[in-house]
Amino acid sequence: MKILIKNIKQLLQVRDNPVQKVSGADMRSLPLLEDAFLLVEGDRIADYGKMTDLPDTQADEVIDASGRVVLPTWCDSHTHIVYAGNREQEFVDRINGLTYEEIANRGGGILNSAKKLQDTPEDELYEQSAKRLEEVIALGTGAVEIKSGYGLTADAELKMLRVVKKLRAHYGIPVKATFLGAHAIPAAYKSDREGYIDLIINEMIPAVAQEGLAEYVDVFCEKGYFTTEETEAILEAGKAFGLIPKIHVNQFHAIGGVQTGVKYNALSVDHLEVMRDEDIEALKGTETIPVALPSCSYFLSIPYTPARQMIDAGLPLALATDYNPGSTPSGNMNFVVATACIKMKITPEEAINAATINGAYAMGLSDTHGSISRGKKANLIITKEVPGYAYLPYAFGSNHIEQVMINGNIN
Ligand SMILES: [Zn+2]
Repeated sequence: MKILIKNIKQLLQVRDNPVQKVSGADMRSLPLLEDAFLLVEGDRIADYGKMTDLPDTQADEVIDASGRVVLPTWCDSHTHIVYAGNREQEFVDRINGLTYEEIANRGGGILNSAKKLQDTPEDELYEQSAKRLEEVIALGTGAVEIKSGYGLTADAELKMLRVVKKLRAHYGIPVKATFLGAHAIPAAYKSDREGYIDLIINEMIPAVAQEGLAEYVDVFCEKGYFTTEETEAILEAGKAFGLIPKIHVNQFHAIGGVQTGVKYNALSVDHLEVMRDEDIEALKGTETIPVALPSCSYFLSIPYTPARQMIDAGLPLALATDYNPGSTPSGNMNFVVATACIKMKITPEEAINAATINGAYAMGLSDTHGSISRGKKANLIITKEVPGYAYLPYAFGSNHIEQVMINGNIN
């Protein structure tokens, strides 16, 4: 099957020589072709160029993208979309004055989600999660990472990761799995945190590895959750089973988690709403990519990741949703890109780089996703008629997507 997309107003993120990620000042450059064509063969990008150079080719289907922007689908490297129920009551509690930490102390928060998830059968959990995945694909996401961490017992954590595995098998997009048993100390271990960490290290991680259920290991390294020492012990245990670290750090407090991530060669360090100069320094010259989650800052009214300062310091940056029931009940990457521009003062070029190629890097997918390059997967967003690509974050809150192509198929 050959599909020709012609008369593309702007074809974004065109890279003849694919890169793994873009950093610092390079993030300001978003390579594009105007008045372009794109040829898809099977599930791959076969060719592209200016309309004036369109080769004489027989396509099975032709899409006229006049007035439209075409770009690679979003790569969302940080989500928790496998969860049960919702936490709309806590949302109302917060409006009425309780903080995220106060709600957690009252048995709400992550522990509330854990209770619901433990009580939800696997097939029902799959159904709820599949709906969310379909929703985000329709919003232009073409690769996603999903974490466990709402189980907090060996059985429930494995149940979550089996649901992730089923989602991967059923949907055509890459779905990366992360084991986040260290998301919170469960109520049963309230006065025995060592006992829970022992369970993570000696039971959960080996079981996850034995079933091949995760590629990454994550820890919520934060005051009131897991210390840097505990984080190190868990990452060490994961490493022994080949799990690569991707960790939650510096959301509310800087306690040295960024340095822990770098020490363990984390693929990414995520959140980073509170960044000290030494944390930015620690990331320089490393392979660890910082990931910002602006929808979470928006929803919780907490500071935004100092993305401007980090990019100006030469760092790369990825953007992701953090889609989860407590702090970000939204998986809309279009909103993430707009919010990054509006609130973090990064340019549309930087934000689109952060949400495509750099998001792919944060999932180990740069070779196959995240840019318009020959041979990469044909996962594409075709917008409605728009004046230009900066209009996408500018006119925030509207859906500018007309079609989403996954593996060469229009969804
Ligand atoms: Zn998260």
